[in-house]
Amino acid sequence: MKIVPRSKVIYSFSSQHKPVEHIKSGELVLLETEDALGGQIKNEESSLDVLDWSKVDGATGPIFIEGAARGDTLVVEILDIKIEEKGLIVTVPKHGILGEKRFKPSTKMISTNDGYVHFDEGVRVRANPMIGTIGVAPESGEIASGSLGRHGGNMDVKMLTSGTKLHLPVFVEGALFAAGDMHAVQADGELCVSSVEVAGEALLRFSVIKNRKPEWPILETHGCFAILACGNTLDEAATFAAETAVKAFMREYDWSFERAYMFGSLAVDLEINQVVDPKKGIRAAISKEFISLENMLT
Ligand code: CA
Repeated sequence: MKIVPRSKVIYSFSSQHKPVEHIKSGELVLLETEDALGGQIKNEESSLDVLDWSKVDGATGPIFIEGAARGDTLVVEILDIKIEEKGLIVTVPKHGILGEKRFKPSTKMISTNDGYVHFDEGVRVRANPMIGTIGVAPESGEIASGSLGRHGGNMDVKMLTSGTKLHLPVFVEGALFAAGDMHAVQADGELCVSSVEVAGEALLRFSVIKNRKPEWPILETHGCFAILACGNTLDEAATFAAETAVKAFMREYDWSFERAYMFGSLAVDLEINQVVDPKKGIRAAISKEFISLENMLT
């Protein structure tokens, strides 16, 4: 097993970054990650004013996956996630879905031991550690690790947890994978712009599907696939996600657009990933009963 330490951090996804590790298909990788604030906030008295924003939203990597080339699919299996026992959540004026309201910058330290996130006296939420930022080098240019796109990135999908697979399109040789920004738990939407931000480690395994790739990242659980699309608005993201699902049905069943569009109303759940990042994210979830991975790749 190879260990990639959290000191190997990037702040953008780009083909120009030099890989910090080379790994083979099937090899286990333990990826250590810092919290999304770069580990800079240690207590509730720390002022966000002193935050070095250039060290926020980092991702550990990039990792070169041998055999991955442009036009392929990188399959990432999230085998396990371990998180540290202390996390934090912040409010930042002008950020989050209610960013136009008047409120103060604030920090809350949160204990995440014993399988629960202890939010307040008598108020706890079962922990469900997940990976907020996960992706590969994009088609062109450089995309900040705090943003998201067809390459993945800061998608903040609560289902990217232990036991989930992620299928990412590969744009450059080796894919140049990186991940970070774990949350001890997050609900759909991530309303206040942060969730329970925490350092941790993810046990990952990679493989490659040659010469076929998804249009958007696709997550896979035991029971469903979900297309992870994003856009400048939720409406735009929903349109991209729905269109990708309808095209997959046309391939799966050899249906006309009209027939596949109709079936979308029966079989596609449009769910919100987050409403607070530079682009908004929607997932189109489809039961495995109705679609195969093969027909979600082109
Ligand atoms: Ca995030």
